[in-house]
Amino acid sequence: MWAVAGTWPFSLEGIKLAAPGLEAGGTAEEAVITAIKLVEADACESSVGYGGMPNADGVVELDAALMDGRTMNFGAVAAVRGFRHPILIARDVMHCTPHTFLVGEGAEKFARSRGYTAENLLTEASRLNWEKERARQAAPSGHDTIGIVALDASGDLVVGTSTSGLGMKMPGRVGDSPLVGPGFYADTAVGGAAATGVGEDIMKGVLCFRAVEHMRRGLPPMEAARRSVIETHHLLLQRGHKPGNIALVCLDRHGNAGGAANHSAFSYAWASDQHAPELTKVASVVAQPASPDGKDYVIATAGGTAPRPQG
Ligand code: ASP
Repeated sequence: MWAVAGTWPFSLEGIKLAAPGLEAGGTAEEAVITAIKLVEADACESSVGYGGMPNADGVVELDAALMDGRTMNFGAVAAVRGFRHPILIARDVMHCTPHTFLVGEGAEKFARSRGYTAENLLTEASRLNWEKERARQAAPSGHDTIGIVALDASGDLVVGTSTSGLGMKMPGRVGDSPLVGPGFYADTAVGGAAATGVGEDIMKGVLCFRAVEHMRRGLPPMEAARRSVIETHHLLLQRGHKPGNIALVCLDRHGNAGGAANHSAFSYAWASDQHAPELTKVASVVAQPASPDGKDYVIATAGGTAPRPQG
């Protein structure tokens, strides 16, 4: 038995590439790396890796992380410049250092020591877009994260994330994606989750840990994702914030996938030993319980069906 799920339509191609490896008995870690690397290398994906959205200074700064739910080991990097595959640096932090998180220059020095070659990640399209945004003095905007959760035949669950974060962010700004708890979490005894959306908001709700703990209490992935989004959205409102977009994808240890968002644009891709890779769009309803400010908002979910008997 194996399964894999990922955020946004761009994860579908990565999942298609990774699925045969899982089918052949490959590891969840290999699957996560394979799927994320494909998207990091794609110049047309403007929120991840090469061609990612630059910061306010016009420099592409990347965040990524990898976590193994069997050992709870993880590796993360943030604000890394000049390397198109931050997921590989995060993996190497996990396997080849006594640490869990390297940032900025230290992460770049470590990447060079591992043999990765630095390059300019700013494509002409991203540069032109940055110039336009700068001219209109735009607030930070435009973002997405590839987050992949994979379960392999040995029962291991691994999650990975990679993003260029918010476009026009302040140099040095780090989002949720490399942060264990808000941006990603995996526990082989339960399941895993990966988030996407406004990192500043996702952090406040510690979104992915929250979802995994809901799964630990027996909720199926879609319900765990829905509850986590509602709780975080309400927490933000109660403390005087205007929630931005937040979303996550969850996969449990039985291979069931689910996702939720506080907006209707989210979709996630998934596949398993019994399902060919497919994209699932969340469907929206008015959130229940009602919002603490009395205003209706959309909660959009999908998933929750068990592809196999749970045991
Ligand atoms: N969560 C990412 C960040 O805040 C962006 C996104 O996934 O949309 O950096």
